Amino acid sequence: MNDAIWNNAHAGIHELHTYVPGKPIEDLERELGLNSILKLASNENPLGMAPGAQTALSEHAGDLRFYPDGNATPLKQKLAALHHIEPARITLGNGSNDILELAARVFLGPAKNAVFSQYAFAVYPIVSRAVNAETRVVPAMPYNSAMPLGHDLDAMYQAIDSNTGVVFVASPNNPTGTWADRTALEDFIAAVPASVLVVLDEAYVEYQAAETRLDSRALLEHHDNLLVTRTFSKIYGLAGMRVGYGLSSTVVADLLNRVRQPFNVHTLGQLGATAALDDHAFVEQSIATNTAERPRVEQALRERGFKTLPSAANFVTFDCGQPSDPIYQAMLRQGVIVRPLASYDLPNHIRVTVGRPADSDRFLAALDAAIQ
Ligand SMILES: *Cc1c(COP(=O)(O)O)cnc(C)c1O
Repeated sequence: MNDAIWNNAHAGIHELHTYVPGKPIEDLERELGLNSILKLASNENPLGMAPGAQTALSEHAGDLRFYPDGNATPLKQKLAALHHIEPARITLGNGSNDILELAARVFLGPAKNAVFSQYAFAVYPIVSRAVNAETRVVPAMPYNSAMPLGHDLDAMYQAIDSNTGVVFVASPNNPTGTWADRTALEDFIAAVPASVLVVLDEAYVEYQAAETRLDSRALLEHHDNLLVTRTFSKIYGLAGMRVGYGLSSTVVADLLNRVRQPFNVHTLGQLGATAALDDHAFVEQSIATNTAERPRVEQALRERGFKTLPSAANFVTFDCGQPSDPIYQAMLRQGVIVRPLASYDLPNHIRVTVGRPADSDRFLAALDAAIQ
């Protein structure tokens, strides 16, 4: 084979592996000839999608002749009211992954480094290496600490130097479910040099109990270098819609918007997300389901002898005490899709999305059958 074209790719990209998503329901349906697949692999909302979004979509699905509103004005206005922030401080993305990528393109490059934790979200190394930045992966907290496999903010702070462009913090983090202590995170953000962008990824924050949650909105008033990312993919049940956003200073928003594709959030995404913001009852119900079910799943896993990681999100990650891939495969054959975490260097762990009570029962039955 001629390696010339491969060799011409950026060195950072040679180090990457293509992201492996949770197995799609349709794939397993085809393979098994089953049609009652339970997918608990990608932290999607078990209650479905926000009903207002569904209505907005069926009303507008026929008219896609025009380009989207490049500024997404109605959506931004609604988000501005929700978060008590000026529209000029909001950046919209094709999912919050898009915002992460914009941050990397603006603040990272060949001479720069990105700091993030071991076992943090897989997209941080992708967007960083894609622009040839160095990645500084900081060892996570040990298993026998108060926050097993959580971010070690002190060590992350130590890893920052004059070439650091971005620090990524996920709270709650995926795939661990762990969260950063509120005071520790406030101190961390205050200590990071004002030239370094702190990305605080809050994809799961709506699920987090108020007692442990950080007031990221208040922090935005004090730190021009803070970018908080949120998404419609999780609590609003719109993962297929691809809408996320960043909240920041106007300076950061202005920089991100300079490299943003002009029409990165499509028309239906804007309509669906705008409507979903009125679905308060759906959000409350989603939180209530998760708050009731997560402890039940955690307890059931512990009763079976599995160690669970602390979670403030809508999933539970547990240590199988043995390679998890065969367990994952055996569960697949029963039509239940969970997420084995070998790609996150956690080959004995599985991440399972918290579903409705009947979903948990089916998950546990499939797990029991898989391990016996
Ligand atoms: C799911 C998830 C997101 C959301 O990504 P979208 O592009 O908005 O779908 C962001 N960060 C983390 C840590 C996630 O797990």
